[in-house]
Parts: sequence; C-alpha cells; structure tokens
Amino acid sequence: MKYVYFFGAGKADGTGDMKEVLGGKGAGLAEMTRIGLPVPAGFTITTVACDHYFKHGKKYPKELRSEVAKHLAHLEKLTGKKLGDAKDPLLVSVRSGSARSMPGMMETILNLGLNDKSVQGIAKATKNDRFAYDAYRRFVQMYSSVVIGLPKEDLEARLRAMKSRLGVKDDTQVTADGWRELVGEYKAYFKQKTGKDFPEDPVEQLWGAIGAVFESWMGEKAVTYRRVEKITGLLGTAVNVVQMVFGNTGDNSGTGVCFTRDPSTGEKTFFGDFLLNAQGEDVVAGIRTPMHLSELKTRMPKVYKQLEKVRQTLEKHYRDMQDMEFTVENGKLYMLQTRTGKRSPGAAFQMAVDMANEKLISREEALERLKSEDIERLFYPVIDPKLPRAELASRKLAEGINAVPGAAVGKAVFTAEEAEQWAERGEKVILVRRETSPEDVGGMYVAQGILTATGGKTSHAAVVARGWGKCCIVGAEKVDIDAEAKKMSSNGHVVREGDWITLDGGDGSVYSGEIELARPEPPKAYETLMKWADDVRRLRVRTNADTPHDARAARGMGAQGIGLCRTEHMFFKDFERPEKSAERQQAIQEMILADDSESRRKALAKLLPFQRRDFIGIFEAMNGLPVTIRLVDPPLHEFVPHDPAKQAELAKKIGITAEAVARRVEQLHEANPMLGHRGCRLSITYPEILEMQVRAIIEAAIDCQKRGVKVLPEIMHPLVLDKKEFQILEEATRRVADKIISDAKVKLEYLVGTMIELPRAAILAGEIAELAEFFSFGTNDLTQTTMGLSRDDAGRFLPEYVDERKAAIFKTDPFQTLDVEGVGMLVKWAIEHGRKTRPKLKIGICGEHGGDADSVKFCHEVGMDYVSASPFRVPIARLAAAQAVIEDKKRKKHKK
Ligand code: PEP
Ligand code: MG
Repeated sequence: MKYVYFFGAGKADGTGDMKEVLGGKGAGLAEMTRIGLPVPAGFTITTVACDHYFKHGKKYPKELRSEVAKHLAHLEKLTGKKLGDAKDPLLVSVRSGSARSMPGMMETILNLGLNDKSVQGIAKATKNDRFAYDAYRRFVQMYSSVVIGLPKEDLEARLRAMKSRLGVKDDTQVTADGWRELVGEYKAYFKQKTGKDFPEDPVEQLWGAIGAVFESWMGEKAVTYRRVEKITGLLGTAVNVVQMVFGNTGDNSGTGVCFTRDPSTGEKTFFGDFLLNAQGEDVVAGIRTPMHLSELKTRMPKVYKQLEKVRQTLEKHYRDMQDMEFTVENGKLYMLQTRTGKRSPGAAFQMAVDMANEKLISREEALERLKSEDIERLFYPVIDPKLPRAELASRKLAEGINAVPGAAVGKAVFTAEEAEQWAERGEKVILVRRETSPEDVGGMYVAQGILTATGGKTSHAAVVARGWGKCCIVGAEKVDIDAEAKKMSSNGHVVREGDWITLDGGDGSVYSGEIELARPEPPKAYETLMKWADDVRRLRVRTNADTPHDARAARGMGAQGIGLCRTEHMFFKDFERPEKSAERQQAIQEMILADDSESRRKALAKLLPFQRRDFIGIFEAMNGLPVTIRLVDPPLHEFVPHDPAKQAELAKKIGITAEAVARRVEQLHEANPMLGHRGCRLSITYPEILEMQVRAIIEAAIDCQKRGVKVLPEIMHPLVLDKKEFQILEEATRRVADKIISDAKVKLEYLVGTMIELPRAAILAGEIAELAEFFSFGTNDLTQTTMGLSRDDAGRFLPEYVDERKAAIFKTDPFQTLDVEGVGMLVKWAIEHGRKTRPKLKIGICGEHGGDADSVKFCHEVGMDYVSASPFRVPIARLAAAQAVIEDKKRKKHKK
C-alpha cells in the first residue's frame, strides 16, 4: 500500500481524479503540477492513512514513517534545501484536505521547520530579520494552539501586550526584536503549560503537525460540517506537506484567492482578492482589507497576465468554476491550491446554464451539478450574510433540529391562539411550543416561524411547516418552555412573550433579538435549468397540498397534480375565510362528541359545505390535473380540547354538559394513538364520515365539471391493512359516489385507491390491487411501522443513531431519506405484486420522502409513476427525477 504521493518539478505520482485518496487539495496540486502550472513541490499523505489512524487506536500505518522520510529527502533534494538548516533552510506548510471541500473546518500549520537555528538561516537568506522572526512567531503560535491545543486567546493576549509595550498598533510596525521577544514569551508559556520545551527538531514538529491534521478530521467543527452538508462515506483527510513560498517578503510579493467566475452571482468575470506583502491566512482571516484582483493588473501586470492564463487553463481543464489560492514571491507566481469553488445557490444555476451554453459541459452535466440544497436555499430567506459572526454567536440561545430551512424573525408567543391574535394586530410572531398538534394549525399558519422543544423532522410541526415553506426548528430540547408563565429560558437567557427572537432553520440555531434577513431572488437561469430537467425526467411530480392557495403555489413550482390532500387539515382552519374557522371546528367537535350515528350525521352535514367548497377550490387550482384526496386520518382525540376550561366552553356552545365532553375525551384517549383508532379504521367504524367526505368530493367535482373545469378525482383510503378491509371501504365509496353521479345524470371518472403505509398492506399488495386502482406509498407511516420508530418521538435519540462519532447506525435519518434496504424492500415487493395483479396500477409516493432527492431516485428506479412533495420541494423532486434518468443512462452505458 502506497501512503505518500509526491509532486514537484512537473511530475506527480498522483492525478486530479484521485480525490478520494489524495483529497481535493492533494489531487489539485498533483494535477496542476502535471499540466505544467507553477506549483511548489511537496507530498500528500493519503486519506487511507487517516482512515487507518482512526481504525487502529490512533496509530499510523507502520510503513508511513519510512515513506514520509523518503519523500522528505526527495523534497530536500529537489529544492536543494534542508529542513532545520542553519543556512537557507526548507520550510513547509502542513495542510488538511479531504475529498469534499470543507473550508476552514480542519487545520493547517505554516512555516514548519523553523527553530532557533533555522530562523537565522532564513534571516540570512532573505536578508530580512524582521520577516524571519515574524515567520517564526507565527509558527510557534500556530503549533502551540493547533498541535498542542493551548488556548488561542492566551497567545493573542501576549501578542497584544507586546504591541502595547512597543506602542504600536499594526503587526506591520513590529520590529524583528519585537517578534524575537514574542517567540521567547510563547516558548516560556509553552513550557509552563506542557512541562516540555518547544520542539526544536523539525521532524518531531512535522509528526506533531501530521497528527494534528488527522485529529482535526474528527474535530467538532468538521463533524458538524459533514452532518450539515450531508457528507458521508469519506475515508478521512489527507495531509499535504508543501514547500513554503512567501508572499510577505516585500512589496514585490503578495498572496490572494481568486475564482474563475463570480461565486456569488455566477457572472463570468475574474473575481478575487489580493494582498501585497502578506501571508495566505491574512486574506482569509480578514485582518487587512484586501484589494480587488484588478489592482494586481496595474501593480504586477506580468503576474496578472500569467494568472489570467492559469484561470483559463484550469477552468477548461476541470470544466467547472475553480477557487484558487496563489502566492507571489519576489515577482514569481505560485499556485497553492485549486478546487471546485463553492457558490451561492443563484450562482450555481447561472454557471451551470452558462457553461452548458458555452459547450464547456453538456446539459446533462449541468443538471447533475445542482443539488437539492441549491434549490432549497434559493427560495428561503436567510440571515443576512453580511452580519458579523461574533455578533451572531453572542446572541445564540439554543439549538434544535433544522426541520425547515430559511430564517424567520418575530416576537415570541407561546400559544397558537395568541399567535393568531397577535398576527391579526399585524405583529410578526414566532410560535414557541413544547410540541404542536393539529389544533395549532391556525397559529402555525400565521407565524413567521415555529420552534418546538420536542419532535423530529417528520413530526407534525415539521411536516406542516415544510408544506408552507415556513422556517421551523423542532426538538430544541434544552429550551425550557413555560407556556403558562408565557416565557422560555435557555442558555441563561429568558425570553418573554413579545420579545423578539430569530430562527435559523438552516442550521437549527435560535437567536435573541431581531436579526436582519435577506431574501434571494431566483434567477432566470433557474427557470432554464428546470425546463431542461422536465425535458429529461420520466417520473411525474405532484404536490402535497390541502388548500387552494397551496395548490396554486405548487403549480407555480411545477406540480403536475396533487398526490395528497390531507382533508383533516380543513377541519380546523378556513384558509380562505378565517372568520369561518370557528364554525368548522365546532362542527367537527360536535361530530366527535356525538353519541349516536344520527347526531353524528347532523354534525357532519354542517361540515359538508365547507369541505365541498375546499375541494372546488382545489379542483379549480389544478384544472384537469389529477387530485388525490385522502379521507380522514388522525385519531379523533387530536380534534377535541384537553384542558377543562376549553372543554367547558365547547360544552356550552353545543349544549351538553362539561362532564359529557370530558368523558368523551377520556374515552378517546389511547395509549398508542399512532397505532390506534385512526386512518381508514375511522371510516370502518363511522361510515358516515366516509359518506360525507365522498359526497363533498363528488359534488365538488360535478360542480366544477358543469362549469367546464376538468377534474380527475382520486379518492384515497389511509392506513389500509388488507383486501378485506379495503373492499368495505371501496364498496362504500362507490355506492355513495355512483348514486350522486347517477342522480346528477352526468358522467364522471374517478378512481378509488389506497395508501400503502403498513407492512401488512405492502406484503399483501397483490390482493389489494385486485380492487385498488392506485397505490400511494405513505412512507412516513411505513417507515414508522416497519422500523418500529415513532415518527413523533424518534427525534430524541435519532441524532445519536446518525452521528458518525456516536452509534452511526444509520447513514441518514430514515424519516428524511428512505431506508432503501428495509422499507424500500417492502416498497419494491408491493409494486411488483401490485402490478402482477393489475399491470396498469398507478403508483406514487406521498410521504415526506417524495421531496428528498435520493428517495426520488429510488422511486424512479422501482418504476413509480409519480412522486408527491410539499410545494416548496416540487422543484427538488423535478431535478432529482431528471438526475435519476441521467444516472440510469450512465449505469447502463457502464454495463455495456
Ligand atoms: C405517510 O404516512 O407517509 C403520509 C403521507 O401520511 P401522514 O403523514 O399524513 O400520516
Ligand atoms: Mg400516514
């Protein structure tokens, strides 16, 4: 096994496509060397060595020491310099770099090889004492904090004290003696803290640095970053040991960072920052304000011309926007890094479209370049990126699970009712709840964002908020909410009703105060690219929408129908006429509290016009596209009040005793309602609910049809177990529907189908398909029931199941990305057997997975007809469906 790859003098052991092994930086250095660009020489220790290190109790592979020694000797020979030499010593940088770029998340050590002897060598060689001792103090400072872990603040304090002793403000004013003195202080501090002398032996320094870079792979920052960016399956970080070149030797030197195109707009302009007489980290750390790259053109025209050529070479070579670091040492240009540059979501679209139009890449490649996050982030407001990080950090209150991205600002309120009252007065609110229930839907709707102390990504609050594209943080367990006292406390702060808070749904952070937000405009390139996606994909994309408003919004996002309309959401809120909400609520509550089917029917008759009206609105919005309407699903206890005051109020309204209400609510209590009296079981035991809902659907459809609005209703039963159960539902549905249709003397096509959300239904799909005209996989429940994981509670321990430093049992949250091996197996089985019975069986998915790119690709592979996603995830599904076709094509080509 080869663990070390050399590059230098136009030759490299590795190549640009060895990112997995050499990391992005190592592969870039090797490739740039190969294609003749000016790169300082060095070697890369592979990610495989890092993997070995963590798998073997932090021990290096046994060959590593001799391999490093061999390549170090080679480097010394090539450069004609020696590490630690008293004359003109070799200095190296030791940098991290994994296969996926993780900017700033891992460690770097510069100027390694300096000690009391070699610093004099550098001083002599550069004829610059000040430069030499500045380099030395930087090294001691970095080594002490990065390798040994001494507090940065203690080191900085010594630097500040020294400057104030000398009476200078800027680092540039410190003399050689000042730096020399600081080195002495650092070393004394080092000895005091560690009990050892600062290592003088450059080889010892080197191994210290290699170890520190490996360690930084598992550092807090890096692990969090990988979780947030969903980076999995990498071996570790590589370590790049590269000859130092200096941008801080005088005014004929400098350092900079540049991009082949503008990373924030995507425009094809050469973009970058440059600092004269400075070392690389000065640009990144923002200590001095850099100048625009165009300035380099006037200051160093020859270097600029050369850099412009490098820009063109690299972009053509990599066929993507590159982010490059360079240093100019005494007028000579060196390239220190090239990598595919990070870009804003808007720029990602712009560049993909431009590059395809320029024929640098194909349209298919353009489609492959975009990620779901690019789309997601395009639409949500964000915390103004110009805000200083330190200010944000000082305002942080808590962290939760980032259920719906984007940011929201508002005044904290602790009940849904208050949210509605405040909103009515024109206030912006954030609804803060321990958990939410369907009763809260009105408050959630008017809130800017939602924060809950419990729950996971598919908990009610999250599912509903996602449908609205509303910022939502759930499972912020450390937030202590006292709804009665109207306050919450967290991290030593108390937030009372009316206090401003800000949520960042992107990373799950909760901040105090009103923080500035910015909303990015979706660029024209987005429309172009989505059209290309539509031309390629086979899967159709529908939406989960419960209101005409959402249905319209979803069409704007490209939805080709509704895959799931959850009718129960209509029981609580009149989205078009909020003043009618109370009437709806009372009708449903009366229905639930009714003692016999007669009074239940009476209450249902009050609900009928509301539901019919809703369906008419939805059919109109969808104008001829298919609409799948699901009959009532949640357990009834979710619709009745639990606190005595509200029960008394309700009792008064409907003219029964408060005790009767309390008794009925008590009767409805279930130990495990998710596996209880819910789904189609409600229609089996209370057929009058089914009758009312089917009537509302069919009457709405007929009404629309008469007015020339085309309709394609699909009536869907939830939580079906088997054929026998479905048969009862299907017959009841057809009996009601057909009678209305024949009484109205019209022709109306409609379908009756089922959700597949229980393992038993999946297993018996072949029989169910004898009667069902379509299947829709409810993978939220199917995941819950297959894995035995509660979708509402699993958030408490799931993070540990997916944390790579903890149990790491799952790669991703199974409620977010479909568990292909387990749940996916049932899906495949059900499709295969369903289609055996009924070859034209229409099949889709309506669980949250329908808006997750990886899951959409699975749905394509298993031959579904469509996926259904919440409105804001429709474009994500469209893109993923196109990518699925492209990947498929590639796989087939590969097989041939
Ligand atoms: C499901 O279970 O996947 C589903 C879509 O239904 P719900 O989320 O409403 O239970
Ligand atoms: Mg379900």
